[in-house]
Amino acid sequence: MKILFIIIALVATISIIGAVHADHQFEPGVSGFAKAQLPNRQSITVCNESAYALDLPAIIAPWNRIAGWQLFAIACPGDITFVTSGSTWVQPYPTYREPYTSCTIYVSLSYATTYWMRHEIGHCLGFADHIYASLLSNPNYINPRVCDDPAHPLFSSYRGVMSYCASFLWWFYRDDCRMLQDAGYSGRRCF
Ligand SMILES: [Zn+2]
Repeated sequence: MKILFIIIALVATISIIGAVHADHQFEPGVSGFAKAQLPNRQSITVCNESAYALDLPAIIAPWNRIAGWQLFAIACPGDITFVTSGSTWVQPYPTYREPYTSCTIYVSLSYATTYWMRHEIGHCLGFADHIYASLLSNPNYINPRVCDDPAHPLFSSYRGVMSYCASFLWWFYRDDCRMLQDAGYSGRRCF
């Protein structure tokens, strides 16, 4: 009886954790890079036109690993283009809401690192930031989730590449695998 109770409690916990993963995108259910979504998936090409020596193979490798296929490939002109800018932000086309056909990542010097560009290409997949509640007053975050206040209505327990609350060591594990699945980029089994 005790064992049964533990099993039921475990299943309930997994269900609750699983439920938050369907809610990562700028516009739930409608945004993202259409060509890379199932069933007719094609690799999204990335091209560095910025002044920085970005390590594109290192930037795309963990994304491809958790997707289980070549979600990103390096080629120019790219579906995604890195360009030099005074600030770091992402613009998908035609809009944040519609299926994306291309995406520009604006890169400033202080963010021109492999780690930050791994995060930014996540925005080109349609994924929103999971930020500190104190940042919600900044209108530049589109459809953000809150990562540091469990009592907040926008709270998400997600810990991965799109979360400000997750250290680099937490990136590209189960939460990110599920995030890719939920958005249609992967049919891979996550655990
Ligand atoms: Zn971000």
